[in-house]
Amino acid sequence: MRTAGFLIAAIAAIAVVGCASGDGVESVGVAPSGTLPAVTNESDDTADDATVATVESDAGGGEGVPVDDILAELEANGFCDPADVEGTGDVGTTTAMQFVVDAVPAPPCFGDRDDRLDRAWSELAAVAPTEYLDDISLLAGYEACEGCDTLAFVSALDEAGSFFLMAIDVTAAQDDPDELSLTLLHELSHVFTQDPTTQLEVEVAPDACETYHNGNGCLTDSSYLWTWMTRFWDPAVLDTFDEGEADPDGGEERCELGGEYTGSYGASSPEEDFAEVFAAYVFDVDFGGDLVDKLAFFGEFDEFRSIRERAGEIGLAGLPNTFERCG
Ligand SMILES: [Zn+2]
Repeated sequence: MRTAGFLIAAIAAIAVVGCASGDGVESVGVAPSGTLPAVTNESDDTADDATVATVESDAGGGEGVPVDDILAELEANGFCDPADVEGTGDVGTTTAMQFVVDAVPAPPCFGDRDDRLDRAWSELAAVAPTEYLDDISLLAGYEACEGCDTLAFVSALDEAGSFFLMAIDVTAAQDDPDELSLTLLHELSHVFTQDPTTQLEVEVAPDACETYHNGNGCLTDSSYLWTWMTRFWDPAVLDTFDEGEADPDGGEERCELGGEYTGSYGASSPEEDFAEVFAAYVFDVDFGGDLVDKLAFFGEFDEFRSIRERAGEIGLAGLPNTFERCG
């Protein structure tokens, strides 16, 4: 993982400003922490709707840095590299990469604008409120290699866990839009459940973690995932996981034993279990009386009910059940 703390903080803070300011013309300051810069979103007096995001030096320099310059710096620091997409295994060929600022993709920093990727992002942004997209700072599309079946993935590119890449198989996205919808929300859950401000303490080492260490950090007591684990997972089983690594063999076994999972993939780890059921909840997939408690879990949170309503409003309620199922 790379560190470019100043730049990462800058792009993350722009996102914070964006969701705090609503119409984008208020001046909202983000409290600086340590040596990180303060970012302000200022209205431009010379043009009605123009919004200029600037980064001001904490040291009192006060010199504004336009968003474009921050993105150029990120690119120069290696943050728009197709190797981050293609190097993760059997994925395929990257078609486009775009930085995302305030939930809006910037023009491609690699490849060419790809309509298929645009459509996928638009749907995700229609279902998920901006604050859920804040930590996705880089978007990529790829055409899958022969026999490869990764529909999408997310990965944190910085040590602080606040700069995520979301990569989407644009060919599969076109061929199976329902599966794409489910996959995007599944992946999104992997991002918001690792939010370093509320969900995950990245500085806590595995030995010092009293909840569950997922390899990137230690879940907070009140995190969605820890609440999920304490309710639905046996502590003895949780102890068998090695820093968040999925356990496909254990998943098969748990599924065969008739556990309440969407399938063996969901049973392969508590994170995948959460992600699968979350996607099913958002799109109101019918499990015919199974998974009642797990589906109801999400209904306990206003924020998740609202995401489900947004999906319904754009006609995505009641997607067919294509989960593999157990038993
Ligand atoms: Zn997953």
